[in-house]
Amino acid sequence: MYLPTIGLEIHIELKTATKMFCGCKNNPEEPQPNVNVCPICLAHPGTLPVPNREAIGAVLKLGMALGGTIAERSHFDRKSYFYPDLPKGYQISQYEEPLVTGGILNGVRITRIHLEEDTARLIHSAPRPNGDRIKTNKKRIFDRNSVEFGVDSSANDSGATYVDFNRAGVPLMELVTEPDVKNAREAVQFAAGLQRIVRYLGISDGDMEKGHMRVEANVSIRPNGDRIETNASIRPNSDRIEANSDRMNDDRIVLKDESYRLMGLLFEVQNKLGSVYKEKNYQDAIEEVLKREEISYEREKRVPLKLDGKAISDFFVDFLIDGKILLEVKATKFITQEDIRQVLRYIREVNVPLGIVANFRGDKLEYKRVINPTFAQDSVGFDRNSSASPLGTKVEVKNLNSFKAVHDAIEHELERQEHLLERGEKIAQETRGWNEKKGVTESQRSKESAHDYRYFPEPDIPPLDLSAQAGLTKWDLEKLRQEIPELPEAKRRRFEAEFGLAPEQAELITEDMAFADYFEQAASEFKTYSLPTTDYQLLCNYLTSDLRGLMNEKGTDVTGLKMTPEHFAHLVALVAEGKLSSRLAKDLLAKMFETGEDPEIIMKESGVRVIGDESELDKIVGEVIKKNPKAVGDYKKGKGNALQFLVGQAMANTKGQASPEKLRGLFEKKMK
Ligand code: ADP
Ligand code: ZN
Ligand code: MG
Repeated sequence: MYLPTIGLEIHIELKTATKMFCGCKNNPEEPQPNVNVCPICLAHPGTLPVPNREAIGAVLKLGMALGGTIAERSHFDRKSYFYPDLPKGYQISQYEEPLVTGGILNGVRITRIHLEEDTARLIHSAPRPNGDRIKTNKKRIFDRNSVEFGVDSSANDSGATYVDFNRAGVPLMELVTEPDVKNAREAVQFAAGLQRIVRYLGISDGDMEKGHMRVEANVSIRPNGDRIETNASIRPNSDRIEANSDRMNDDRIVLKDESYRLMGLLFEVQNKLGSVYKEKNYQDAIEEVLKREEISYEREKRVPLKLDGKAISDFFVDFLIDGKILLEVKATKFITQEDIRQVLRYIREVNVPLGIVANFRGDKLEYKRVINPTFAQDSVGFDRNSSASPLGTKVEVKNLNSFKAVHDAIEHELERQEHLLERGEKIAQETRGWNEKKGVTESQRSKESAHDYRYFPEPDIPPLDLSAQAGLTKWDLEKLRQEIPELPEAKRRRFEAEFGLAPEQAELITEDMAFADYFEQAASEFKTYSLPTTDYQLLCNYLTSDLRGLMNEKGTDVTGLKMTPEHFAHLVALVAEGKLSSRLAKDLLAKMFETGEDPEIIMKESGVRVIGDESELDKIVGEVIKKNPKAVGDYKKGKGNALQFLVGQAMANTKGQASPEKLRGLFEKKMK
């Protein structure tokens, strides 16, 4: 058995008005080549780059949204390498002082987020029948003909390569994760979660197919067996742990989801307050965010301290969160072994699985997790398989242009590595490319040929001072923070609580912010109808199946909808009131989709009606009962769905123009 370890590097093109270091329009999809260009992005000598404030703001916002630490000082570096799509011979990037460090998404820790410039795009014409073509790992674009490019068409089959500089200098952010991803599915979840967030923040369209978002996966495996001691913080002074310690499984992270969520909140506190305050200030701030997040907690919980089982005095733990996690807050130079031993003692006395020591004094939040050995093998444990043995040799997989590619390439690469190890072979550290057609990864370059980028600080751009304390904040951090909308995770949780939606429903509806807003507006209108029950699930179902179906069919997005959320809510309310059968509702929705008109008006105009006349319905019900003696018998035996069946039959007889509720009532009365 092998344990997979995966770290992701994700590039995202930012949707700013202009490019990263010049005033050219930022439109990498411009079909006409080389129109959004100037001496700066064409790399003419002697030009001066000026960083794009909007792009920096976008990265800072993402950093805040992910609970990362915003750098107080940051600078750009030159990353030197040669490639035809990079005429300067170097890329302006960030190496030593990225804009953001830390943060967490879906339980995966984020190492850093930095900003750089995108390269030009190379376009390779069709190869000569048997001539050789310039080799490149860039995506080939064949669907542009030579006329469009204004080049001699005889050059088209020469195997020539063209350069389009529209994309050169487009702001590109890079996010690097810690090797916390365990499998292909988690990698896709992370990438999809990130895509959703950048879309919510409006900083990128994050379309993988269009190259807005590009994922690279670092993949390694290692045998699941002999463990080597590490100085991982998870392991408190092990020789103090009692006899059951050999049973203790180091490969588990206890309360993973809860503690990562808590970590995110602690990062937030650190970001907002900075590092200059006293313990008590941080405690107050933590209390505030716990309240806001509606997480149950006890502050200053009193616990008797025992000696040989006898209580000698009391101690007070800073926080007991959700009855599970003990949190000790510090504002000291660093966390000491003594602090950890103390927390270990506390969590045993209080009998909770996990302790966290969080130290706010440094410029980065320092934290240690301490696991209660008694709980380490409990069901609260979570297989983590990290940091217990050294990681295997990593292979970097590139060319992942879709979520499917991310998934399939990782699966394949894990398999390939397993086969190698099983055959007793070594894994070479290298870069491999995903070949979508063949479904395999292929070697692109080995470690020996790895670049030495000769990073050095970009002399043409002064360092950025983002320090709030210095009062020099050029980037108004607080304003940026306020621009962050409610994020997908929070919205999902709120929709579940507020509208009683099932988790999958809430997930589906919050995938797209505009769609979620549409639902919310419809819901607030829906509430104003005096319905027997305000069934938001019904509203949600119409939205996610019927309306979404129409939108997909016609290629409309939410912003292009003619139908207002109010009219949509009205339609669903008519269904809920029994004034409209679901069959008719479908037709009506299709009409509303076309015209944007109010459902009742369409009903009047098109003569759609609901048969409400008792005697007419009575007749129909009588006929159905006569024709379906078996179902009637079943109903009398107490089978609930027999009634459903009969109502369905009657609905069919009326071509859907009857109220199912009325029919149900009539059936019940007649079959008593
Ligand atoms: P490099 O210097 O080769 O770029 P980094 O340490 O910067 O390597 O890591 C790059 C990415 O690779 C990060 O996402 C990191 O999490 C991941 N990574 C590092 N070591 C491993 C490993 N052994 N297995 C899988 N991923 C790894
Ligand atoms: Zn330019
Ligand atoms: Mg690296």
